[in-house]
Amino acid sequence: MSNITFTMIKPDAVANGHIGKILDQITTAGYQITAMKYIHLTEKTAGEFYAVHSERPFYKDLVSFMVSGPIVAAVLKKENAVADFRTLIGATDPSKAEPGTIRNLYAKSIDANAVHGSDSDENAAIEASFFFSNLERF
Ligand code: UDP
Ligand code: MG
Repeated sequence: MSNITFTMIKPDAVANGHIGKILDQITTAGYQITAMKYIHLTEKTAGEFYAVHSERPFYKDLVSFMVSGPIVAAVLKKENAVADFRTLIGATDPSKAEPGTIRNLYAKSIDANAVHGSDSDENAAIEASFFFSNLERF
């Protein structure tokens, strides 16, 4: 079991002014931020990040959405990071997310769903190194 996960605060949550509240909820839940940056993704970078979904019907819209404004990317450290973070953010579709979860509180739709969270230890490692060099991780 690894102790890191990777997250993004997506363009909708950034545009709606929720960066501070989301980071507060994450750190209150016991996560240490070991890397963080505020960036505007390019189509190429967003397309590569979500390449696993390239055959899905929502892929093009997902990439367009992810480049529609800046995002916050971060690596988070805590015991059982991946599974606990999926619980903290709630279901992909915010209408199905448990009350009090980040998506329940801040997301409006299944596509604009406020945050990303890695789905496995393996993908957490891949996603963290996709965004951050060793010099940017603490
Ligand atoms: N997504 C979408 N429509 C769908 C399913 C997913 O727009 O029907 C978007 C949504 O932003 C989601 C992302 O694609 O967060 C990645 O999908 P995944 O199934 O990996 O959900 P997640 O792991 O983010 O909960
Ligand atoms: Mg996923």
